[in-house]
Amino acid sequence: MWDVAIVGAGPSGSTAAYLLAKMGFKTLLLDMRSFPRPKPCGGGITLKAARLLEELGLPLEPVEAIHREVVVAGFGREITVSTSPGEFAIALVKRELFDHRLLESAIGVGAEFIRAKVNAVKVSDSGAKLIGLGEEAKFVIGADGANSVVALTSGVRSGWRREDVIVAMEGSAPLQDRLIFMVDAAPYGYGWIFPRSEDSNAGVGGMSEKSREIMEAFREFSSRFNVRMNGSWIIPAGGHGKPIAKDRVLLVGDAAGLADPLTGEGLYYAFRSSLEASKALESESPAENYSERMKPILEELKAKRRAARLIMPRMKFFFELFVSYPEIARRYMLSSIGKVEFRDFWRWAISRVPRALIKSKLGI
Ligand SMILES: Cc1cc2nc3c(=O)[nH]c(=O)nc-3n(C[C@H](O)[C@H](O)[C@H](O)COP(=O)(O)OP(=O)(O)OC[C@H]3O[C@@H](n4cnc5c(N)ncnc54)[C@H](O)[C@@H]3O)c2cc1C
Repeated sequence: MWDVAIVGAGPSGSTAAYLLAKMGFKTLLLDMRSFPRPKPCGGGITLKAARLLEELGLPLEPVEAIHREVVVAGFGREITVSTSPGEFAIALVKRELFDHRLLESAIGVGAEFIRAKVNAVKVSDSGAKLIGLGEEAKFVIGADGANSVVALTSGVRSGWRREDVIVAMEGSAPLQDRLIFMVDAAPYGYGWIFPRSEDSNAGVGGMSEKSREIMEAFREFSSRFNVRMNGSWIIPAGGHGKPIAKDRVLLVGDAAGLADPLTGEGLYYAFRSSLEASKALESESPAENYSERMKPILEELKAKRRAARLIMPRMKFFFELFVSYPEIARRYMLSSIGKVEFRDFWRWAISRVPRALIKSKLGI
């Protein structure tokens, strides 16, 4: 019997496997794909995600590009937000290579990797069985991504509702010189251009209620920026309102629905949830302990979701606010790289809205 079986060897699964194997757990890591494998993703790693990886002793490699400046553009205006010396906003990786390095790190400290598809997880008093494989573990970590079979078959949570997910499409485009977020590229969403070493990753994403319009917007965006599409996917961002663990099963990363509802950033939350899950496995009641440890993160994601619901349908108004008050843009950047709590930023920013409304009504 394994101490822990981790289903899915993406960033969350490999991080959990690395930490647990290092802590001395007999760790099985499974993935239905052989690595390196492609994964639709912008590959944007924020400073807070990079710092967490460093803390965990995991490699941020290979890095394609490091961006210290971010341009936010739309509705005929733009603003450039810069980071302080020694910091950056976003480092870019190709997921195919980055995920492979993380998996190698997990194997390097003793996790056993098997290529296999898990069809279901069945939990009993004595352990958790991986159906279709004949393996059994004391605990299972579901790191099997957006359409997690571990989450559904173990009964931790039910499927996503439409409003729980972000839809996103991405591909490769010719190299550009600036990293840009385009806030008018899609209704209830945004577009991005992430310049890497030889090309750019470019895509569009937004709230799934507008998925048809977002797909149309991607067509227009692709022809404007010459994007060759890699794929479209869902990014689950509604996990903060659902159970993330039960009995012998803990969900991490996309399986737990932990992406940022405002930006779609999932990698920080993949690393963070895996860290908390691995610490929880040292306790008497891992499922309860993990849920407790994750409370502040789930609260932060809930606040971001409320902000997304307010901002996305009124993007033009909020972007004008962003441009008119560079201090809002600067503080948002600080929150996105982890230097300021999102809730503190949001409380401060929202208090600026009445004054901005009066100014815009008076045309000053
Ligand atoms: C278009 C797009 C752009 C994005 N851009 C960014 C970005 O720039 N920055 C950012 O931070 N986040 C971004 N994200 C989100 C990010 O990609 C995810 O949050 C992240 O991949 C989550 O990692 P994970 O390990 O939880 O899941 P995944 O990376 O999806 O890994 C899950 C693994 O589980 C395996 N698996 C699935 N089912 C089974 C099964 N039944 N049996 C065995 N193995 C299984 C899969 O093969 C896969 O390897 C983006 C997402 C999309 C779709």
